[in-house]
Amino acid sequence: MEIRVNPAPPETRKEKPADEARLGFGKFFTDHMFTMTYTSKGGWENAEIGPYRPLCLDPTAMCLHYGQEIFEGMKAYRGRDGEIYLFRPQENIRRMNRSAERLCMPGVDPDLFQEAVVKLVLLEKDWIPNGRGTSLYIRPTMIATEAALGVHPSDRYLFFIIVGPVGAYYQEGFNPTKIYVSEEYVRSVRGGTGNCKNAGNYAASLYASQIAIKIGYTQVLWLDAIEKKYVEEVGTSNIFFLIGDELVTPPLEGTILAGVTRDSVIQIARRMGRTVSERRISMDEILRAVETGMLREIFASGTAAVVSPVGQFFYQGKEYLVNDGKTGALTRQLYEEIIGIQCGEKEDPFGWRIKIAG
Ligand SMILES: *Cc1c(COP(=O)(O)O)cnc(C)c1O
Repeated sequence: MEIRVNPAPPETRKEKPADEARLGFGKFFTDHMFTMTYTSKGGWENAEIGPYRPLCLDPTAMCLHYGQEIFEGMKAYRGRDGEIYLFRPQENIRRMNRSAERLCMPGVDPDLFQEAVVKLVLLEKDWIPNGRGTSLYIRPTMIATEAALGVHPSDRYLFFIIVGPVGAYYQEGFNPTKIYVSEEYVRSVRGGTGNCKNAGNYAASLYASQIAIKIGYTQVLWLDAIEKKYVEEVGTSNIFFLIGDELVTPPLEGTILAGVTRDSVIQIARRMGRTVSERRISMDEILRAVETGMLREIFASGTAAVVSPVGQFFYQGKEYLVNDGKTGALTRQLYEEIIGIQCGEKEDPFGWRIKIAG
């Protein structure tokens, strides 16, 4: 399918944010968006890059009532000499199609999907910030648009991609986070949708997050829903523990998101000669490791922050300090390695980086 381009009239173009230090996350979006519509009769049609604009939906649009909504999060990076890179985009595309299947939504042709991302990013390339750690965030989204009530899979969908500049997550260096282990609320169960990036998962996580924030913590550490014993994820990131010389992360058993960053961390750490285990890890084991001094580092991984050190956690009424509340050496090393690959500073032995310009 051909992607039409319908440029936004020059007088409607927004002013680009001048101060890269104040970009933050999710605040600015560019002048154009990609859209494509689906009907059960015609399949995907009308692939177009046009002006960024509000959507027009019938009040009964099924996404508003029954939650058929999925999304992805990826980034485009600017290299030192103006090159533009994507990082493992096919992983996000595959994952979005897996989410689609689980929510009875139609898949998108992976080549067309990537072409849409590349075309949109290149059209908006002047919006990509320059600073180290900054990027153009890419948010592909799919929503059910059939105008009807009654629970059933929609027969119409809208797929859109919006992009916007985001700042470096660590403006003033690493700031270890404090996490709250929730025993009352859970994020997902086996057989549910915890391994999909669908809107409902995030709505369901807000309540526990608010509790954590109220008592001074940044994120919730989620435990398994059945025994409330094993660690799953932190906030909307995957989690890693350095215990002695073993780097441990929970396995992909259907309840957690298969993070692209998680997989990258695992592969890079192994290449550095580290022992990495994807296995269940219980709070008991973590507390024992704290007692014996074996718990060296905890960090979260995700596209937004790359890796995010955890300096403290709260569990069953007690606070525990990790690495004296400081960022660990491995956390820092992994951050440098990944960001170096993403922006073209470092060798890319894995072939993860895709150069789309420069
Ligand atoms: C997006 C997300 C992650 C991280 O995935 P990346 O591909 O590394 O960005 C982890 N957990 C949840 C729940 C997520 O939504």
